[in-house]
Amino acid sequence: MSVNILFAADQADWPDYEIPLREALTTEGLEFDLRTTFDPQVVDYIVYAPSSDVQDFTPYTRLKAVLNLWAGVEGVAGNQTLNVPLARMVDHGLTQGMVEWVTGHVLRHHLGMDAHIVNPAHEWALGAPPLAEDRPVTILGYGALGTACGEALRTLGFPVTGWSRRPGDTPGINRLHGSDGFTKALETAAILVLLLPLTIDTENLIDADALARLPKGAVIINPGRGGLIDDAALIAALDEGHISHATLDVFRVEPLPADDPYWAHPKVTVTPHIASETRPKTAARTIAQNIRRAEDGLPLNHLVDRDRGY
Ligand code: NDP
Repeated sequence: MSVNILFAADQADWPDYEIPLREALTTEGLEFDLRTTFDPQVVDYIVYAPSSDVQDFTPYTRLKAVLNLWAGVEGVAGNQTLNVPLARMVDHGLTQGMVEWVTGHVLRHHLGMDAHIVNPAHEWALGAPPLAEDRPVTILGYGALGTACGEALRTLGFPVTGWSRRPGDTPGINRLHGSDGFTKALETAAILVLLLPLTIDTENLIDADALARLPKGAVIINPGRGGLIDDAALIAALDEGHISHATLDVFRVEPLPADDPYWAHPKVTVTPHIASETRPKTAARTIAQNIRRAEDGLPLNHLVDRDRGY
């Protein structure tokens, strides 16, 4: 039986997604009609982005599942009009992009590259950085992206701590969880990477107390979500010198307003939510495989726990 699939993400992305989606759906042996508009009552699946015009799912009476194109689902997980399974994006391209961004920024701080890239006085300053094995990195949020980044950093020699909600066991990684684990994860973090989803439990997690638990001089790298950090507390900790630098990719308001203090702060690097993005070719396969699973009566991969919010 043919399924009707609505592409309800940013319409500017449609030209990039149309052919990969058609190819991946065909590879899965699905008969389908894939479009950017449909009568809502005949739609079986929605390929979705939380920025979409579709915010009320009530008219979609035949809907079987929503396939989110983003890893982050805070913009849709709480939608009370959505009563069918919601899957988030786990995509090879998204993961690899995040590994490259996180590794690059960790190495920038670890090696102290700025001192040589910007060296107006042409100082011949000797002194090698410590080895990676002497620079512990903590990753808060050890899911799809955190795990991939942790493995890459471990391979480079960094001692890696990974903190998650549930206990985990990963060879070569110091796995911690819960509130006791949170304190320990912070206390050893020379570099702290945030790869948590934004939920009611994680909002403002990095507040003044959490920042105070980090070792003096720690660096924060946040490609997770802006709401994870209490911005005023972070700026205070940077000004006091307790935190030496923050590299931030995500913000409460995006684009970051021109008058936001982060832009001008000498100890802050702003990147414009480019840490990683979903890649149409690989993401199309994830979407098509999930539609195939749903049609076969199997649970979706990467199903969102709507109560937990991720
Ligand atoms: P996952 O759902 O795979 O991983 C989330 C991790 O966070 C899990 O380890 C989970 O624990 C942990 N977690 C969630 N809530 C808590 C909590 N209350 N206490 C402790 N740990 C918690 O997500 P991804 O790795 O795929 O993505 C993570 C986030 O990265 C996304 O939600 C998004 O916000 C961000 N992102 C940013 C991008 C960018 O370009 N800047 C691009 C893509 C994603 P457990 O394992 O126990 O469930």
